Amino acid sequence: MPDTFEGVIGLEVHAHLLTRSKIFCSSSTEFGAEPNSHTCPVCMGLPGALPVLNKKVVDFAIRAGLATNCTVKRKSIFARKNYYYPDLPKGYQISQYEEPLCEEGYLDIFPKGQKKQIRIKRIHMEEDAGKLVHEGAIETSTYSLVDFNRSSVPLLEIVSEPDLASPEEAVSYLKMLRDVLIYLDICDGNMEEGSFRCDANVSVRKVGDEKLGTRSELKNLNSFRSIERALAYEIERQTEVIASGGEVVQETRLFNVDEGVTYSMRGKEEAHDYRYFPEPDLVPLIVDEAWEEQIRRELPELPVQKMDRFLSEYGLPRYDVEILTGDRALASYFEETVALYPEPKAVSNWIMSELLRELNNSNTSPSQSPFRPAHLAELLTLIKDEVISGKIGKEIFPEVYRLGAAPGVYIRERGLVQITDADALKETIDGVVARFPKEVGEFRGGKERLLGFFVGQVMKETKGKANPKLLNELLADRLKR
Ligand code: ADP
Ligand code: MG
Repeated sequence: MPDTFEGVIGLEVHAHLLTRSKIFCSSSTEFGAEPNSHTCPVCMGLPGALPVLNKKVVDFAIRAGLATNCTVKRKSIFARKNYYYPDLPKGYQISQYEEPLCEEGYLDIFPKGQKKQIRIKRIHMEEDAGKLVHEGAIETSTYSLVDFNRSSVPLLEIVSEPDLASPEEAVSYLKMLRDVLIYLDICDGNMEEGSFRCDANVSVRKVGDEKLGTRSELKNLNSFRSIERALAYEIERQTEVIASGGEVVQETRLFNVDEGVTYSMRGKEEAHDYRYFPEPDLVPLIVDEAWEEQIRRELPELPVQKMDRFLSEYGLPRYDVEILTGDRALASYFEETVALYPEPKAVSNWIMSELLRELNNSNTSPSQSPFRPAHLAELLTLIKDEVISGKIGKEIFPEVYRLGAAPGVYIRERGLVQITDADALKETIDGVVARFPKEVGEFRGGKERLLGFFVGQVMKETKGKANPKLLNELLADRLKR
């Protein structure tokens, strides 16, 4: 029997922190500003300029550490990671190395509905580098420009243990981690703008082996889809190399989105290549218990806690809960609506089908929705009170959503209120019965399915406004004769 192989994945995530100023100076972190407008001698690396640690960065890092069950170290050290790159003006990056702020945590994920614990090795703070802007296509580019706005924007590096066994698990972990950071209000999670980036380390080994295989590190992954594809490709590539008697080399590989293939970029550098040493311009960071406890007290409800609460408090299916809590603003929208219209499943249904469709179509976040929770609660109340039918509710949804209209006023202005007056309905029914004598005969001869046909005809005449329950009763009664 041929050996079977399994993938082993460990992820390094870099998350931009939502502080207003940079990690070691007061320059702004704003994204997309005029190149080099958010710079100063410190983040430009000019001689003699000294770094001062931004306390907010530490607050945020502690928040992330506590939310991922890490130990927050009383003492941690900043170090210099030395390497040369044109967008790294100091010739080194200030990072944490041997003594990071947070260690040994974990995150629970739920791939295929099953809970799995992924260990987190460390979380440390560091500064981002600047950005090179290549003029024209990179192959034909004759010069590049450098923009230091991103230089020294604060980053968290969050490193997992190699506990992820498949590309699906890797994506599940990343989505959960991203949700946690967004819930904590410390990162916007925007992958396109690079505020949430991931390098994926992957190796394969024979099923049953304890020892880890040689890994490659994948870069250039800027969507969940790319991460999943790159990992699947790389696991297959390494499996083939090993199965055919070859050896995987430790290296950094780039994913090409168009071809769905990874290419070798460079041999992986070793830590000693960076000549790390403690940053002499910064004192050791001391986080006392009081500081940690204060941050702990201020932690918001996290995705997993919210999921559990939604399951028990609202009795919703796990599927609904995962969608609703997958976005903190959507979860709030749901809760605000339920407070006004306490039927959780009905509210969830309308949010997941109608509201999400409109939000997606207009590329709008739930918190920016023109149609507010109070509007949705009003719409559902109108349906429940049989002022309009559910069908009309769905028909008018795109329009009331777009206008942000109060549904009660909207339906009255357009005469969409349901016909619940039996006499008025009887008249329409009589007309329909008179026009379809053949069908009436067939119905009376036993073809009871035709009831639906008559309902349809009356609905057509009343433009969908007949109260369905009343209509069914009246029709059944009228057709018996
Ligand atoms: P480096 O700084 O050299 O990238 P780290 O210790 O920071 O090394 O580890 C990087 C990531 O690689 C971690 O997420 C770790 O879980 C993962 N990793 C380490 N060894 C392997 C391996 N053999 N296969 C897959 N992932 C691995
Ligand atoms: Mg690393």
